[in-house]
Amino acid sequence: MDILAAASVIGRFAPSPTGPLHFGSLVAALGSYLEAKARGGRWLVRMEDVDQPRCKPEHADDILRTLDAFGFEWDGPVMVQSQRTARYRDVLEQLKTMGAVYPCGCTRSELDGARVGADGAPVYPGTCRNGLPAGKNARAWRLRVSGDIDFDDAVQGRQHQDLPRDVGDCVLLRADGYFAYQLAVVVDDADQGIDHVVRGADLIHSTARQIYLQHLLGYPTPAYAHLPVAVDATGAKLSKQTLAAPVDAHDPGRALTAAARFLGQNPPCRLASADFWAWAHEHWQLNKVPHVAAITIEENP
Ligand code: GLU
Repeated sequence: MDILAAASVIGRFAPSPTGPLHFGSLVAALGSYLEAKARGGRWLVRMEDVDQPRCKPEHADDILRTLDAFGFEWDGPVMVQSQRTARYRDVLEQLKTMGAVYPCGCTRSELDGARVGADGAPVYPGTCRNGLPAGKNARAWRLRVSGDIDFDDAVQGRQHQDLPRDVGDCVLLRADGYFAYQLAVVVDDADQGIDHVVRGADLIHSTARQIYLQHLLGYPTPAYAHLPVAVDATGAKLSKQTLAAPVDAHDPGRALTAAARFLGQNPPCRLASADFWAWAHEHWQLNKVPHVAAITIEENP
């Protein structure tokens, strides 16, 4: 069965503006864009600046300018997470009413010895799960997870998580007062009607939690396709945090061709960007994307 087949398709690209667009984010933008377009769908852009201490408006502007210069055409206005705090607060209140979240008074250092989960983060040991222990004050709000989640990923195949064992209770409202990605992404995908999520495989360990939250809130679950991420020879992701170079805005055709090749497509070399898009709209095939979570590249293309 074609997992991504659906009548109305709305895809999205949701960068965090912590730096300029780099090769890794170009890959996610390209894959999500071509998949939505190949299905006659719409493609939205959302600025995921919910983690405000790490994000800067100038990076958001720069990312949008670069996408535009590369020839990406997004539909509708860009959603900006930092403008949606009231909406996230309402959803958190709803979850409180349901008893699905609880206040947590643990500090980061108190979680130091905790078991490491599927996403590399500590699995919360449950200290505050049944009420704040004496002497602790509420700092954050956590989602109480239970049970297993299975889903079919169009690139990575069948996925399974035992939520309490593999990831544990995650923070939805942080101790510093900012909402967490896990809450924002679920609310935003639902509010924007996103039914096809195409993004990097570094996020695949978050997907089961997001589906769990969608179920709790009565939201539909989108189809998922997690693309391989580019890693360097040490296995580190080429992200803004590892200071991967911004894509070369003077030569979009070259960077787009490299991103398409990375995704298993076979564009001719040396296409100018207009020719690249003509080629890509005709030839994009999600089933050619390598079914792996990461691909090592020698240097930033
Ligand atoms: N904002 C996330 C990132 O830049 C992507 C989140 C998503 O696609 O769900 O890595």
